[in-house]
Amino acid sequence: MRISKVFEQKKPVLSFEIFPPKKAAALENIDATLSKLCELHPDFISVTFGAGGSTVDNRTVELARKIKDDYGIEPLVHLTCLNYGRSEIRGILAQMAAAGLYNILALRGDANPDLVPKDDFRYASDLVAFIKSRGDYSPSDCSQFEDFSVSGACYPEKHLEAPDAVSDIHNLKIKVEAGVEHLVSQLFFDNDVFYDFYEKTRIAGITVPIEAGIMPVTNKAQIERMVTMCGATLPAKFRKILDKYGDEPEALFDAGMAYAVNQIVDLIASGVDGIHIYTMNNVVIADRICEGIRNLIRTL
Ligand code: FAD
Repeated sequence: MRISKVFEQKKPVLSFEIFPPKKAAALENIDATLSKLCELHPDFISVTFGAGGSTVDNRTVELARKIKDDYGIEPLVHLTCLNYGRSEIRGILAQMAAAGLYNILALRGDANPDLVPKDDFRYASDLVAFIKSRGDYSPSDCSQFEDFSVSGACYPEKHLEAPDAVSDIHNLKIKVEAGVEHLVSQLFFDNDVFYDFYEKTRIAGITVPIEAGIMPVTNKAQIERMVTMCGATLPAKFRKILDKYGDEPEALFDAGMAYAVNQIVDLIASGVDGIHIYTMNNVVIADRICEGIRNLIRTL
């Protein structure tokens, strides 16, 4: 099913994000995580994609196929483009179509200091336009070829490289006009920031559904590293939790889960289109959060 269609049928949509296990670990090892996540009835599960290097080593499509075939849940395949050429992207799209995978989160990716970016795609919107142009990436043996449904990323606190929020939203509109049907937000810890961003996108004429990205926090060092990398701010009430429980893992787990559940309850009460939970492949986190919101999310 096209993920954009799910948003026409229910609100809020619930989705999880996972990453493929490291090369050394067998893909089968992820079964325990997937079985538990699927018990929570997400509307889809997104699978991250390595930002650079070899498409051969990339296990995103393989894992997405497993989610669809073995668990009957729709996968959203992340795809980055900065370090790939058209022919490599075409190859991945052909692989996806052959596996019956039609939902893509089209991303630029971050520059990898060890790689010189290729020239074919500068921004995610270039990838979106390429995917939407269809053409020769449809494999001849794929009888049920249909258009790919394309999602994109957005940044409530603006993308780190954008000079200001206005130009970032202007660029977001270019991406949506290239063919993005649904947006997933970067993590944030202050719902007011998300509401303000959402309103600005509507004023700018962006009308596609926007899912709120929620990162349940369980580790102080990890979250401090992450916010530096992605530019999210830590509000005072969240900082207070980190200061008080940062060195007590069990207490921080309880506080982090309570904070994430509170964020989600407020977002749902405010009519958010969807909640996207960055699970970090941790079923205990996903389970605990879903327990806290079970009766707020209706299944299809
Ligand atoms: P873009 O939409 O291209 O934007 C990048 C920057 O360019 C922004 O500052 C934007 O304002 C600017 N820009 C865009 N278009 C134009 C234009 N036409 N003219 C001028 N400036 C422009 N990374 C991974 O490697 N793998 C993943 O699986 C992954 N998953 C992610 C999932 C989500 C939900 C999010 C929010 C991020 C994810 N990322 C992932 C990180 C992402 O790759 C980085 O944030 C990257 O720096 C930007 O990607 P983008 O697709 O948002 O880029």
